[in-house]
Amino acid sequence: MQEVCLPDWQAAGVRLLVKRDDLIHPLVSGNKWRKLKYNISEAQTQQQDTLLTFGGAYSNHLLATAAAGAAYGFKTIGIIRGGPFDNPSKVLQKLMELDMQLHYVSRSAYRLKKEPDFIAKLTNRFGRFYLLPEGGSNDLAVKGCTEILDNLPLVPDFVACACGTGATIAGLSVSASKNTTVVAVPVLKGASFLEQDIGELLTSYASLKEAMLPPYQPIQFEYQYHGGGYAKAPAYLLDFIKDFMAQTGIPIEPVYTGKLFYALHDLLRKGFFLEGSTVLAIHTGPTIGLV
Ligand SMILES: *Cc1c(COP(=O)(O)O)cnc(C)c1O
Repeated sequence: MQEVCLPDWQAAGVRLLVKRDDLIHPLVSGNKWRKLKYNISEAQTQQQDTLLTFGGAYSNHLLATAAAGAAYGFKTIGIIRGGPFDNPSKVLQKLMELDMQLHYVSRSAYRLKKEPDFIAKLTNRFGRFYLLPEGGSNDLAVKGCTEILDNLPLVPDFVACACGTGATIAGLSVSASKNTTVVAVPVLKGASFLEQDIGELLTSYASLKEAMLPPYQPIQFEYQYHGGGYAKAPAYLLDFIKDFMAQTGIPIEPVYTGKLFYALHDLLRKGFFLEGSTVLAIHTGPTIGLV
């Protein structure tokens, strides 16, 4: 955890702390490692030798799966949305270097990725595998993300995180203290599906532990910071990112963490955080592979 001293925050009397989960590993980084950790143990318990998962050409999750799979001795298969591409992205090149077997499907076929028929076809084609859903987001991923707040030296008044599928914020809401407000910054436009998806992830997490739904902190969604949609990077966001990196030395990117810190900066300006409060931002990952 690192304290960041920026003039606006100091003037408002609010402390900004950053949990540097982006430093976990160069490829299996941030929340992607948290989400994989228990899935990998489960795959080992089931004596599986292959991990199969889904993603786009810039997916941090595919990269993390390919690298973790290689490190733990699994074959990996990536079902890729769109393609094959004339100019494969840096992520796709890295996946090939890591020996992930790539299988390209059309965007319309990709949409069927949760359908039992589609999974059955994949089983016919590839044999037995351990299935990781898109983004790695399942009950065991939530379990891994409950550990992000372990061993903190203080209880923050706010914990904030960029939000794609919602598994990470679900883990934070389960593990945050009752004195902490959990703030989600969705990076997709029209992300109101999140509340239902997170509810389902939490229910499934609770059954995993053979317990009732654990007490969890309500999540405050700040929907207005998607910047036009997933991976859209308007000029004001890019300017903000440049300034933030120059002032703090912390690398952020436009898809996730840039939107998170921009949101925090704007919320501070609007008086959302009271004087004397402490805000913990979760740095969920590095720039690798992202636009
Ligand atoms: C995948 C990702 C997220 C989103 O995590 P979810 O659990 O899907 O909400 C946030 N930040 C970074 C850097 C990511 O790679």
